[in-house]
Amino acid sequence: MEPAEIIPPALLVPPDAYSRGFHHDDAALVLDGWLRRLASQQTRCRAVLGRLAGAFLKRRGQHELGFSRLDDYARERLGLSGRELQSLATVMGRLDGLPALRAAFEAGLREAGRTPDTGDEDEPRARFHLRCPRRLLALWRDVVELARRMAGTELTQGQAAEAIAAEGLSAQPSSEEAWPEPLWSPAAPIADPVETRSAFAEDLDWSAVAEAIPDEVAWIDRGANHLDPFALDGRMRRVVQAMQRIDWQTGRLLRVFLDRRLHRVMQFPSGARYLRERLGISARKARALVALERKTWEAPILGEAYRAGELSWVRALAVLPVAREQTAAAWVARGREVTVRRLMDEVEWALAARDGSSPIAPPPLGATLRDLPERQMCAREGSEYPDAEIVFSAPVSVVALFRTAVLAFAGPGDALWTGFERLLRHVQAEWEAQPRHRDPIFARDGWRCAVPACRSRRNLHDHHLLFRSRGGNNGHANRITICAWHHLRGLHGGRVRAWGAAPDDVTWELGVRSGRAPLVRLRGDTYV
Ligand SMILES: [Zn+2]
Ligand SMILES: [Zn+2]
Repeated sequence: MEPAEIIPPALLVPPDAYSRGFHHDDAALVLDGWLRRLASQQTRCRAVLGRLAGAFLKRRGQHELGFSRLDDYARERLGLSGRELQSLATVMGRLDGLPALRAAFEAGLREAGRTPDTGDEDEPRARFHLRCPRRLLALWRDVVELARRMAGTELTQGQAAEAIAAEGLSAQPSSEEAWPEPLWSPAAPIADPVETRSAFAEDLDWSAVAEAIPDEVAWIDRGANHLDPFALDGRMRRVVQAMQRIDWQTGRLLRVFLDRRLHRVMQFPSGARYLRERLGISARKARALVALERKTWEAPILGEAYRAGELSWVRALAVLPVAREQTAAAWVARGREVTVRRLMDEVEWALAARDGSSPIAPPPLGATLRDLPERQMCAREGSEYPDAEIVFSAPVSVVALFRTAVLAFAGPGDALWTGFERLLRHVQAEWEAQPRHRDPIFARDGWRCAVPACRSRRNLHDHHLLFRSRGGNNGHANRITICAWHHLRGLHGGRVRAWGAAPDDVTWELGVRSGRAPLVRLRGDTYV
């Protein structure tokens, strides 16, 4: 028997069907209700998975099944990361040791998604690799730096890529490939940590949804501690299958919800805030779900394979950027035929070998990739030769999103790096056009606190080295970028002293105290 989906079929129709007689207020509440029920189901499935994973880990099941590392096992068999499995097991282990909390959880009193939700960084990771002319390395560095400045924090290359892809995709003209506004953008205001829920629609019902666990999952963790790893593997795969069905429904509803910006109707300032507060879903996960959902309109077979659990999350995301109407069947088949590791290599190969005029198909099954003829992609670009490479590692959904963005900016017949360059230039122009990026002092100081050893990029202030109260002037040499803490508590709080001419001749003292030498003295970042 086909396991049931909880969402009424009428709601799971293509989004166009919503256009007539679409009342935003009603739709927001209806979709919100279903999304919360799905989130609640998902939470319960994760709890079951966590218990099974706990039993599996206790026995070091991966070894018995022939995998050296938990992560290899998890991504190959479940499409998850080892870390996610580990954190689910830990959370459930703790919860089971606290009967009252567990009872509350079982009764559905916990809020949707909150309990066994694990961090964003738990997603399986993938590698992004692109051959390009050397001159693009500097552009990449600049745009990554710009992303850090925008975010006010030290992003990794992978995190910067996520922001770049979101910005780039949001700019694509609306069409079948339309994307919702970026769920997370470095330009977005930082949430106030003490803000309460009263900031959102006042009459919103915040009580938890006690949605039942899917039938086929309900019994599945019974006696988990007495099962061998082979049986646990089978059961974990069943749970993951059920979770993918829930994800699929969530993706479809979220697409409508976010496309129509229904979070605004409910007075949430951003889609990301709605997702986190209301559903306990990270913006990244939601974006990937919606991306997969979008792709299924062009390539329904991909969505069906994911919905039916035939293609895991990690496999579906791996083929997402390359699957087109004509090639989706081949990629879905390939996703079942080879390991995740091989699938990722094949996607990377196919992207590099693409000629732009024909859809990107998988290489022949079992082919030795390095023996396949390489197309001369750069012939048309004149003398430029891809003699350098960009490599970074990021969550698999980020790599999928970034590749999708690069492809969206590459014209037919262009080398892939041309799309990469256009994407970067577009994002660079967008971000540099934002007013907060025109400050000459912050720009000179690289948009971060100039106090030695400080890595803060957030809440930057413009400080006068010679205080204005003591006759300091407004010239650039008397002004320097520092973070709020260093400004208010450090310099004006007497713990830090600075004098000289900005930017290159500033002497700093940290740990200033009366009557004794300061802890350290530096000129720039050099101890003196
Ligand atoms: Zn000051
Ligand atoms: Zn600082």
